[in-house]
Amino acid sequence: MKRVYDFHEGKASMNQLLGGKGANLAEMTNLGLPVPTGFTITTATCMEYLEKAQGLTTELMQEINEAIIRLEDRTGKSFGKKDNLLLVSVRSGAQVSMPGMMDTILNLGLNDQTVVSFAEKTSLPFAYDCYRRLLQMFADVVYGISPHYFANEIEELEWTYHKELLDFNQKEFIELITRFKNIYTNNGKIFPQEPMEQLTEAVQSVFKSWNNHRAKVYRRLHNIPNDWGTAVNVQEMVFGNSGENSGTGVAFTRNPATGEKQVYGEFLSNAQGEDIVAGIRTPEKISELASSMPEVYEEFTKVCQRLEKHYLDMQDIEFTVENGTLYLLQTRIGKRTAKATVKIVVDLVNEGVISKEEALMRVKPELLNQLLHPMFSSKALKTVDILAKGLPASPGAATGKVVFTAKRAKELTELGEKVILVRQETSPEDIEGMVLSQAIVTSRGGLTSHAAVVARGLGTCCVVGCGDLQVDEQKGELLAQGHIYTEGQEISVNGNTGELYLGIVPTELMEVDESFHTLMTWADEVSQLGVCANAETVKDLTTALQFGAKGVGLARTEHMFFAAERLLEMRRLILAENGDEKKQALETLLEYQQQDFYDMFAITKEKSLIVRLLDPPMHEFLPQKEKEIIEVAERLEKPVTKVKEMIAKLHETNPMLGHRGCRLGITEPGIYQMQVEAIIRSCVALSKIGVTVKPKIMIPLIGGVDELIATKSIIVNRIDELFTELHSEIPYEIGTMIEIPRACLIADQLAKHVDFFSFGTNDLTQLTFGYSRDDVAKFMPEYIEKHILPHDPFQTVDEEGVGALMRIAVEKGRQTNPDISIGVCGEVGGDSASIKVFQKIKVDYVSCSPYRIPLARLSVAQATIQTKIKVD
Ligand code: PEP
Ligand code: MG
Repeated sequence: MKRVYDFHEGKASMNQLLGGKGANLAEMTNLGLPVPTGFTITTATCMEYLEKAQGLTTELMQEINEAIIRLEDRTGKSFGKKDNLLLVSVRSGAQVSMPGMMDTILNLGLNDQTVVSFAEKTSLPFAYDCYRRLLQMFADVVYGISPHYFANEIEELEWTYHKELLDFNQKEFIELITRFKNIYTNNGKIFPQEPMEQLTEAVQSVFKSWNNHRAKVYRRLHNIPNDWGTAVNVQEMVFGNSGENSGTGVAFTRNPATGEKQVYGEFLSNAQGEDIVAGIRTPEKISELASSMPEVYEEFTKVCQRLEKHYLDMQDIEFTVENGTLYLLQTRIGKRTAKATVKIVVDLVNEGVISKEEALMRVKPELLNQLLHPMFSSKALKTVDILAKGLPASPGAATGKVVFTAKRAKELTELGEKVILVRQETSPEDIEGMVLSQAIVTSRGGLTSHAAVVARGLGTCCVVGCGDLQVDEQKGELLAQGHIYTEGQEISVNGNTGELYLGIVPTELMEVDESFHTLMTWADEVSQLGVCANAETVKDLTTALQFGAKGVGLARTEHMFFAAERLLEMRRLILAENGDEKKQALETLLEYQQQDFYDMFAITKEKSLIVRLLDPPMHEFLPQKEKEIIEVAERLEKPVTKVKEMIAKLHETNPMLGHRGCRLGITEPGIYQMQVEAIIRSCVALSKIGVTVKPKIMIPLIGGVDELIATKSIIVNRIDELFTELHSEIPYEIGTMIEIPRACLIADQLAKHVDFFSFGTNDLTQLTFGYSRDDVAKFMPEYIEKHILPHDPFQTVDEEGVGALMRIAVEKGRQTNPDISIGVCGEVGGDSASIKVFQKIKVDYVSCSPYRIPLARLSVAQATIQTKIKVD
């Protein structure tokens, strides 16, 4: 097994073995870009090390030694010898980027002797600054000694000598180094003077860091397998801290927040890479390089274009400038916000870089949820006072209570609170708290600081570098505008502007931009499946149509009975003791329903609108609590005992399997007749004023063909009567839900009598598994954890069982009725993994809640493209 690869031996496609960073360093080397030379120890070697737990093997040591010799040859420098000293950096690099999770050591190879000759060749403050950085990083990464001990020593000596660190003389630097070494001794450690020993220790630490707590948390969160391991990159040092003509930067080839095509990032002059990430000094904008180092800037923008063209995507690049020469230290596909993701793929298509299909495949459907996040209501914003302003690092609008530590974020969230994590800066240890917070605010750091990068990845609203705030995490205090605020203070965070407001500011839905609509249009162009909405209120219907729903796949009429005055009439109907009472209740309900349907059909017009007749078990409408029962009795002018008696009579052992759906329609035909009347009257009224409507009436819970025939005849007879009475006819369709396993098996018989099928996967899953859909929470998490089920079948369709039944129903249904339209309206209709299954089963459309429409439209397009790729 080859364990070590020189950069020129690798390529981008070897990222599994060389890690993302190593593979891209190799690719850039082979592209002839200015990359400091080096080598990569493979991810497989890391796993070998972690499994054996016996230190570095002789085979590996031999390969490392040989690689160092080759590196010395290439650079003309020597590792550990005084003359022409070779210093290296050691960095981790997993297959996928794990920001802030693994560790870096710079300037490796320096020791008490070599620092002296290095100082002679360079400059004294520079050489010693490098050495003290090595001591600090090595202590932190290899021995876990807290960096603050070192920072304190620097501060103390600066104070003693009334000087900045870089103004120290040799004696003062040596004193600092001695103090640093004492910190090692106090922690029972020694800094190894031998460079090769430094290197082997560093390599082992990187390997071990694969299993540190924060790396594990990150992996769990992002579903990264534990056995991938990390590679180690050993690279010749270039020095961004060698004077004013040097520096270090991080830049994106496009704006990662908005997607705009502009080189975007930060540069810190006279600094080493870690300074920028740590957010200790505030960096300048990359565009300022255009005036301070115009040649470097020009070369860098060319490199950006070249890398984008090569990788066909926006890049996130780390670079160093050493005495006016540009070096690239890393490139990778840049993380970006949802908004930027959409804009970038659309722009790349328009620039002729990628195809529309590629653009559609690149956007994760779930990401669109972030785009549809609410924003602060613009009206409310006019009246609020800005508490502080920082850099808008990740968009969104969030409100909650201030906490100052990740631990408190966790504790308060567990108590059901919404929290905003406010810190000076964040570090990887904070990850658990960051995940749980509604927003993250830091008083320090820039747009590429830890907080910013992690928040963007999480899609969490984030404001960084908020210098108007003074945060004291120890005391749990926040000073802003002369006031002190403590934990629990409610604030609102605007991730789009970087502003913070006191108190809770109301939010509203964000307006999506042009690129979003373009992408959605492309999605619809390729899709084979249609996307409809489950909606029954005017508000939901309007939202659904705005999001591009083709129509309404399911309007649950029971949802129209829950407003107080309607519920009373529903209860009057259920508790009626004679025909008159029933008639009275039905007449009132008819008025309500007629208006409801009128309003709905007036919005959907010629678009499809499927109205499902009443479905739930009656107990859902009945009062439960004593107080409520008394109230209902009073309003219906019945004795309380009578009401209680009726409730007891209607009690069912398994209401979900009881008197509901078409069973209710058959035994209490008045309800369905009333609903059909309301639909027909409202549609006839609309057609009389010139609105084209074609109502689709859906029967729930059909399990047998005679059951369907009986229910259908109740409906059709009433419709015929109405057409005669109204002297008017309109086209209409009748369909059935397919949500009982038996219905799937006899779908050929059912299809002869209907125009459409709609799979009610909620009930179909419930009845196929025999899991009560209202009680699964009691065992589902454990089932998933113990791998008894691969996923919750109510969230993602169970292809093997439920999917098989659906397939039978589709095939049988089309056998006897080739024109039948078939859809899915259960919750999984809006789930991207399920949509792939429905594409295979060949249904005609899916239907889901309004906010999931964009996600479903994209998923449907992706499912079609994938099928096409397979066929091709
Ligand atoms: C279903 O069962 O999947 C369905 C859409 O109907 P409901 O959820 O209203 O039972
Ligand atoms: Mg159902």
